[in-house]
Amino acid sequence: MDYIEKLENEIGSRKVLKDEASLYSYGFDASIHHAMPDVIVRPSSTEDVVSIVKIAHEYGIPVIPRGAGTALSGQAVPIRGGIILDMIAMNRIKEIKIEDLYCVVEPGVIYGKLNEELSKYGFFFPPSPGSGDVCSVGGMIATNASGMRAIKYGATRDYVLGLEAVFPPGKAYKLGSRTIKNSSGYQIERLLVGSEGTLGIITETTIRISPLPEKRAVALASFNSLYDAGKGVANIISAGILPSALEIMDKVCIQAVNKSMNIGLPDAEAILLIEKDGRGEEIKQDMERIAEICKKSGATKIEFTDDEERMKELWKGRKGVLPSLSRYGENMVSVSLADDMSVPISKIPDAIKAFQKIAEKNNILIGTYGHAGDGNLHTKILIDPTKEESWKRAEKAVDEIYRKVYELGGIVSGEHGIGISKAPWMVKENIELMEKIKMAIDPKNIMNPGKMMQWKGSIITHLRYM
Ligand SMILES: Cc1cc2nc3c(=O)[nH]c(=O)nc-3n(C[C@H](O)[C@H](O)[C@H](O)COP(=O)(O)OP(=O)(O)OC[C@H]3O[C@@H](n4cnc5c(N)ncnc54)[C@H](O)[C@@H]3O)c2cc1C
Repeated sequence: MDYIEKLENEIGSRKVLKDEASLYSYGFDASIHHAMPDVIVRPSSTEDVVSIVKIAHEYGIPVIPRGAGTALSGQAVPIRGGIILDMIAMNRIKEIKIEDLYCVVEPGVIYGKLNEELSKYGFFFPPSPGSGDVCSVGGMIATNASGMRAIKYGATRDYVLGLEAVFPPGKAYKLGSRTIKNSSGYQIERLLVGSEGTLGIITETTIRISPLPEKRAVALASFNSLYDAGKGVANIISAGILPSALEIMDKVCIQAVNKSMNIGLPDAEAILLIEKDGRGEEIKQDMERIAEICKKSGATKIEFTDDEERMKELWKGRKGVLPSLSRYGENMVSVSLADDMSVPISKIPDAIKAFQKIAEKNNILIGTYGHAGDGNLHTKILIDPTKEESWKRAEKAVDEIYRKVYELGGIVSGEHGIGISKAPWMVKENIELMEKIKMAIDPKNIMNPGKMMQWKGSIITHLRYM
């Protein structure tokens, strides 16, 4: 009996997919990469996951956990074939305990759905990734996802109190706690945060929750130079103001959004979107200070709004940058390479300036936007993916970008994770220790093998385009 037959016998053939169309579709995530798995399995319980891991361990078959498949660096792509473990059927919200500030959920719960439920109690799970309407809580933990509210509320790691996970050779462990505080030994639950499916499979998690703010308001500031906008960011932060979001968009991104969405962003070299949440009076005072700082930093125009519809529209525009960029020009696609570096906040202007120079030097177009308030930038490279020459130029630019990021005291990924696309630029010391931990937990190397510290070679590989 082969291992697929054994899987079918063990957890039921209804939960096992082997048809060509499914195999092809599950070979993608939202990155530039693609590879075919051998089989897709859709567990509905921790017991199912334990059985699957036992079989995979026995036969030495790769297991790639998958949530919604929105990862941008190839984390969910099965580069060595094997089993795609689709966790989306494990999507129950098991408990919401407002008085203890936590909820218990299965990993397949969609972030937006969870917040819809929590909002009924006046609470939320804050990380807010741009993909929040579709991505899963399990995927968020495994990539330490965050978004525009990280400046005030932090990233997913700051909300994981405990979890249940299945590790090779097939055993479930309960890690962490349901308490807000815990100093009871290693914080092993945190080891799964950012693990990208390379250690174990999260089957349940206890998440800390926060009260929803009373009110929000947004300022939209236009600038004649991207560098001035970057200076505005550093000036707001060093004035001791804590916005709930502080986003930057350059001209390429503004034009892309205006072309594909009817939002009417200002025709400027750069804009800042600054959100402040809290109580009415506090918002008013901080917005006045923000306006003053933006003007001193070179802002040419500032719009304020606390109208729910207008705020929704502006955030829709910001979230629409990524898909809009692919419609910016003929034969141009926005590829996720060097797309979410983090630098110290004060280095934002220098980083932006350097990235523009790198783009010019390598004759490529780069759209820069992101969560500038916490030092996390997105640089989307626009290329013709059918031309080998475009990929070569992009790869060279990526290398130059990451060298600059390290020179400025930054790090390769602040949000989207490593996968394949950022692997060559990981910190060497981390690589050594990560490999030791992985081998201790997964000695047969079945959990999402070949990724992060194990990827060797070019990032222009397993391309979905050719
Ligand atoms: C349009 C768009 C906007 C985005 N915006 C943001 C953003 O603002 N911030 C941000 O951080 N990211 C963003 N992303 C990236 C992505 O959405 C996040 O990384 C998200 O958290 C991935 O969740 P997922 O459910 O899609 O996971 P998947 O893509 O399915 O998987 C991601 C990784 O997690 C692992 N994994 C999944 N489930 C489990 C599990 N149960 N146990 C163990 N490992 C598991 C997988 O093996 C893989 O390594 C964006 C992506 C897109 C396409």
